[in-house]
Amino acid sequence: MVEHALQRIRNIGVMAHIDAGKTTVTERILYYTGKTSYPGEVEHGTTVMDWMPQEQARGITITAAATTCEWKQHQLNIIDTPGHVDFSVEVERSLRVLDGVISVICALKGVQSQTETVWKQADKYKIPRLVFVNKMDRTGADFFRAIKQLNSKLSAHAIPIQFPIFLNGIFEGNIDLIHLLEIRYDRQTLGAKTKISPLSELYREQAINAREELIEILAHFDSNIEEAFLEDRHIPTNLIKKVIRDACCSGELVPVICGTAFNNKGIQSLLDAIVLYLPSPLETEYIRGYREEAILDQKQTGRILTEDDKETRTPDSNGPLVAYAFKLMHIGNLELVFLRIYAGKISKNDHLLNATKAIPEKLSAITRLHANHFDEISSAGPGEIIAVIGLKYTTTGDTLTALSSPIVLEQLAFPAPVISQAIELFSEKDTKHLEQALMQISKEDPTLQFNIDPHSGQKIISGLGELHLEIVVERLLREHKINLLVGKPTVALRETVTSSEEAISSYTHKNSKNSAKVRIRVQQGLIGTGVVILSKLQTEAFSHEVLLAAESGIREATEKGVLSVAPMHDIIVTFLEATIVKNDDSTCAVIANAARQATAIALKKANPKIMEPIFTVEVEVPEDYTGAIIGDLRRRRGNITNFSAHIGSAVITALVPLTELLGYASSIRSMSRGHATFSMEFVRFELVL
Ligand code: GDP
Ligand code: MG
Repeated sequence: MVEHALQRIRNIGVMAHIDAGKTTVTERILYYTGKTSYPGEVEHGTTVMDWMPQEQARGITITAAATTCEWKQHQLNIIDTPGHVDFSVEVERSLRVLDGVISVICALKGVQSQTETVWKQADKYKIPRLVFVNKMDRTGADFFRAIKQLNSKLSAHAIPIQFPIFLNGIFEGNIDLIHLLEIRYDRQTLGAKTKISPLSELYREQAINAREELIEILAHFDSNIEEAFLEDRHIPTNLIKKVIRDACCSGELVPVICGTAFNNKGIQSLLDAIVLYLPSPLETEYIRGYREEAILDQKQTGRILTEDDKETRTPDSNGPLVAYAFKLMHIGNLELVFLRIYAGKISKNDHLLNATKAIPEKLSAITRLHANHFDEISSAGPGEIIAVIGLKYTTTGDTLTALSSPIVLEQLAFPAPVISQAIELFSEKDTKHLEQALMQISKEDPTLQFNIDPHSGQKIISGLGELHLEIVVERLLREHKINLLVGKPTVALRETVTSSEEAISSYTHKNSKNSAKVRIRVQQGLIGTGVVILSKLQTEAFSHEVLLAAESGIREATEKGVLSVAPMHDIIVTFLEATIVKNDDSTCAVIANAARQATAIALKKANPKIMEPIFTVEVEVPEDYTGAIIGDLRRRRGNITNFSAHIGSAVITALVPLTELLGYASSIRSMSRGHATFSMEFVRFELVL
């Protein structure tokens, strides 16, 4: 592959609700760019990007796969991500390193719940977007309704740069509003050949009007277009493209095009739009990370780091290396660490620094990825997404830099598990093997946790949903060949305090020489804030170690609730007073103990209650089944929050406790005879009523 200048690189992700067609779109991109010789089908299990056996068998994407292809002298690094929230970390970590996103929307279903979730994630990282309205071949497909929903539900500022054309009700191709041309796709060559023709009489008026609307919007962004528009002068297409590009890159406009991936139409226009409108690594905000001195200072003083502690690095291939490890994957015995390079170059056998962990690393090889295959390359520069082999200590979220010039990029935050399952081995001899396998899987997937229950000795895996754990168990059975049984899934609970008044307690802890007295206050916290620790102490009076020890005492007391073993959540613990008799080497232990005991007493006083995870569930079902589905959701303690119907199909949204949703996938299948699809997403912990 030709190495491309930075301006000619696009790092993009394909994101959408489950089943909108992300994987099919990506497979077609690979086909039309000549990367594969046939278009892969999800239905036949012949996809390149969904390469895991579990993905091909279930027809869903589980792990984000990366690949590289070329279109019109540009290098496209593409990541296809899963739509299921059980794997939403895959989306989050991909968004961290991408410069642009293609949001795929089903022309029939429009904006769905996961479209919205991913859209918000992309908003968080300020990533420019294009929308591809897919499945235009389906009866009831409605391009303009999808655009309306993008604007009303997501405030997307979506503008069509094409519109669809049909022959006898069958989707044929598009009108390109920029060049005012008709584009049709040849069936024989599976859409590889396109027929481009001038506007026919049939579409002339509609196309000219639609273009006028487009220009009117662009006039707000550029005075040259505004003047030409007002004076009814010709506007050069290059100017139109430039203005769309600038507005797309700044996130002010989202160009929308349409097609059908499955029926091989519209993908070349999508590829053109990626190259034309999404930014190169040079056009995105330069990367910022924490300076080494700031991190050292934080370690010593415990202060919170701010934006002022960061410095900017430009995507200069001659500058010192800055790269971000966003994913880890095992292929056979090899461990591959996926890197996005932001500055500098890396070469085979380089010595680097893991700046996050402050450990030197050495890489042995650099590879360019294509799903689960890779080709070795000798070096890579800024803007590239590659994988390296040979690193020993690096995990997801770490920054790799040149040895002499470290900075640390923001870590990724992962959601806490909400569901657990016990694993029982047929033979205890497999224990070590199981531990190694789980260690490997959880290195790839930081949302999977593995613990041994201290009371029962049971081996417990915890994760983000039933499907998440099901896939982990399948991998243990299939890939790691471990014979095991699993228990019923159980839902993770939390405890909180509900007393409207503050609960205060004092406790004195003594040893033979020293003693510490502390006063602690416990109050209700805001929803979703976890455990917040505040201090009213005169911090100058205590050393940093003593304050840290006191805080760890409080944390320890909140790790287990009063009524159950569930950790405390949504509470505020305030350190009101502390006195220490003598500052000797037992001070830390004594104050930690006093803080722990005082917190435990205050928690008891504050009227503790159990909380359970609440999920939002969105069910799409033919209208005939709505009564059954709604009745069933109510029986599951569900609170219906929205209902909408469109051409014989209904969307029901409800808030439901996760405990009541165990096994929902199979019961909804039988309730709707397989006609319903659903998605669910964690919202918050709420009191069990
Ligand atoms: P993902 O979950 O977003 O990755 O979606 P997939 O690519 O796995 O597609 C989901 C289903 O929709 C599969 O059965 C595809 O064959 C089908 N599909 C994808 N694109 C189209 C399309 O343009 N038209 C039709 N009719 N079906 C499509
Ligand atoms: Mg997929």
